[in-house]
Amino acid sequence: MIDIKNISKWYGQFQVLTDCTTSIKKGEVVVVCGPSGSGKSTLIKCVNALEPFQKGEIIVDGTSVGAKGTNLPKLRSRVGMVFQHFELFPHLTITENLMLAQVKVLGRSKDEAKTKGLALLERVGLSAHAAKYPAQLSGGQQQRVAIARALSMDPIVMLFDEPTSALDPEMVNEVLDVMVQLAQEGMTMMCVTHEMGFAKKVASRVIFMDQGRIIEDCAKDEFFGDLSARSERAQGFLSKIH
Ligand code: ADP
Ligand code: MG
Repeated sequence: MIDIKNISKWYGQFQVLTDCTTSIKKGEVVVVCGPSGSGKSTLIKCVNALEPFQKGEIIVDGTSVGAKGTNLPKLRSRVGMVFQHFELFPHLTITENLMLAQVKVLGRSKDEAKTKGLALLERVGLSAHAAKYPAQLSGGQQQRVAIARALSMDPIVMLFDEPTSALDPEMVNEVLDVMVQLAQEGMTMMCVTHEMGFAKKVASRVIFMDQGRIIEDCAKDEFFGDLSARSERAQGFLSKIH
């Protein structure tokens, strides 16, 4: 579903990604972790063409992300993205937030978009809040709306960039629960997160990044198994977040 081949990227003189290679199969849940500044957000943004890269190739469901002539709006509409900050439109109700891209990008009728939006709102447990504005919801609820909004586009893969790291601790689980449910339903997911409980529960693989490189890319059981088999940097990282 996602093929990342030898990606290198520079911001000016600064090399932010060095020769990153991995692939994600349909239905896999890949957790990306690593210290702050290691390039996790940059890598995930490259997958969605939110950031250009200078070397390598990324193929999403057969489409080359960096190639000239690739229809980026179409590609992005198939790749759901959920960020740390939910970025709902403050002046639109929750229902309107869920309808907007369906109507504007996919050309669905308002009725169809509303039906779909409300069904997804129910799926994330927020039906009672359909007519409210984002500011009337808690951070955890807003993030669940953001996930529902991404799902409204019928994505073939979902990218998450630290979706719970800006939330108060008591709201983290309600968002992780939605993500676990998605994973168990078979959604292909690439998740930057330090929630190792989530990784242990649903990850197929764990990628560990450091200084712009993929240092570890292994099956979950291997990653959390014999720690002494992990790289020194991964061991240090794991010991800090546990
Ligand atoms: P992570 O998500 O792992 O914390 P990022 O991908 O956000 O890491 O950033 C990786 C490195 O690239 C950091 O050193 C960061 O300061 C740098 N960086 C990120 N965005 C930019 C940018 N737009 N211009 C220059 N440097 C950047
Ligand atoms: Mg980041």
